[in-house]
Amino acid sequence: MSKTKVVGTFVLIIGYFFAFALADNMSLSLPNEFLPTSTVAVSENKELPTIILDSGHGGMDGGCVAYNGVAEKGINLNIMLDLKIMLETFGYNVIVTRDSDVSIHDEDITGLSNQKKSDMAKRLDIFNSSKNSIAISIHQNQFTDSRYSGAQMFYSQTNPKSEILATTMQKAFVDNLQPNNEREIKISGKELYLIYFCKSPSIMIECGFLSNPEEANKLQTEEYQQEVAFTIFKGINDYCGV
Ligand SMILES: [Zn+2]
Repeated sequence: MSKTKVVGTFVLIIGYFFAFALADNMSLSLPNEFLPTSTVAVSENKELPTIILDSGHGGMDGGCVAYNGVAEKGINLNIMLDLKIMLETFGYNVIVTRDSDVSIHDEDITGLSNQKKSDMAKRLDIFNSSKNSIAISIHQNQFTDSRYSGAQMFYSQTNPKSEILATTMQKAFVDNLQPNNEREIKISGKELYLIYFCKSPSIMIECGFLSNPEEANKLQTEEYQQEVAFTIFKGINDYCGV
């Protein structure tokens, strides 16, 4: 991660802390001892869940591809790494499925299909590795019609709280990043393996459409990746009530 990126991320977090301080002055339900520079106060006041982050695809699996040939795997990873810094700075314990451009399949497995199965099984093990947790899988969307744009949350009914998490996160995107986004959260079955079999509340976030040139261009910039990460960060805080 570049120095500029780290600095930019912290500027966003500091902005968020000041927003908190402002809300505090307006007598909203925030901890009295909360100060803009403190990250410890939040975790001391409320037990925060562990946040499990998955950046979709990686290694030999690029995921969907933008009109200019850029694969989603790198965009997913950048957003996840920005989000990880924000969450950890705030006091969350964060676990990630990957933090570089890799598939995490067992090394002794051969053949692309078997490696993909192993990769997904290992990601699911990580998703189910912590009891008090929520899991977020980060992806980019693609469609044959390039008109479509905007973030959309997917969830499964295997954990009833996942729908609440999806609703809260969809609202965070509308409130913070995409005021004209009218997409509805979407239920999924076993085809979204990780969120279907995850025991904790979990969602898959399709952050935007790589088939839409305008949105694809934005998603490839550090600034917009940080804005998306910050939006997810706020959605997680909203869900956790902090
Ligand atoms: Zn994907």
